Amino acid sequence: MAFVDEITINAQAGRGGNGVIRWLHIKGTEKGGPAGGDGGKGGDVILEGVADLAALAPFRFEKKFRAEDGGAGENNNRHGRDGEPVILKVPVGTIARVTATGEEFDITRIGEQITVFVGGAGGKGNARFKGSTNQNPFKQTDGKTGEGGDIQLSLKLIADAGFVGYPNAGKSSLLNALTNAKSKIGAYPFTTLDPHLGSFYGRILADIPGLIEGASGGRGLGSKFLKHIERTKIIVHLVSAEQEDLAAAYRGVRAELESFGHELGGKKELVVLSKADLLGSDELASALAALSAASGKGVIPVSVVDDELLKSFSNTLSKSLAQ
Ligand code: GDP
Ligand code: MG
Repeated sequence: MAFVDEITINAQAGRGGNGVIRWLHIKGTEKGGPAGGDGGKGGDVILEGVADLAALAPFRFEKKFRAEDGGAGENNNRHGRDGEPVILKVPVGTIARVTATGEEFDITRIGEQITVFVGGAGGKGNARFKGSTNQNPFKQTDGKTGEGGDIQLSLKLIADAGFVGYPNAGKSSLLNALTNAKSKIGAYPFTTLDPHLGSFYGRILADIPGLIEGASGGRGLGSKFLKHIERTKIIVHLVSAEQEDLAAAYRGVRAELESFGHELGGKKELVVLSKADLLGSDELASALAALSAASGKGVIPVSVVDDELLKSFSNTLSKSLAQ
């Protein structure tokens, strides 16, 4: 099943029930006073945040939703039944945009419910129109139409840290080494093009594959995924020890991040020299120095085959995420 991160659905809140004209039936008289109840309110259209990142996928097959209409008012001043809402489950990190108005809703917490379209108010029954000059009102109002229309849903992952770097930098390997990524979060489909996620002491790490030069201009595969790291707190930038020009590799990815906009360039960055096991100690020292000069930051050597380096990086990452 393909990963769906953008889809438009159509939803309609329920119509309010009509108010009714009814009369009290008092024994021995033809009719008593007005007793028509109000209509019930139409059901709302509600979005609910869920952990399952694949939750948008079913909307490919079912795109139209309608909440229940409110019931008509009843006799003896009884209120009509309120319509049931329609509750649509969307992954946490979804932004819902109402096409017609441009209004935007952010779904950020699991279990959070946001009303996007409000159901129509119920109409008034004739009991409401009774006044000193009108003891027998033959009057009621109809329920109002509920709100509705197209909703564009787009998913922006809320990962705590996003791994970036050129293909083969070792992003997936490091994510797997640090997390339980193989036991995916939710029913997450793994293909080489999907952002992979892993849980790291309760924080979410995302491996953002496909970052290549030109991605921010929409040319590469990367642009689709870059937007998923817009909300991450920390960028973990991997530069492979295999790169001949480490500084150029570092700057190439930085340029991508910065040209993408959305404050990506301004995020906290951990610079990592990956596959450090491939270098001898002299080579390692000069590689770290070169990368440090290019980035203006301390550089952390990492290797998935070196437990000590891995542990040390894991500690640094934990501390950074806790800040
Ligand atoms: P990605 O494209 O950035 O996700 O990179 P991968 O994690 O798929 O790694 C690319 C290649 O580098 C694979 O063949 C990995 O086995 C290898 N690799 C990853 N991490 C290390 C490492 O720490 N040391 C060594 N020697 N090889 C690594
Ligand atoms: Mg990968």
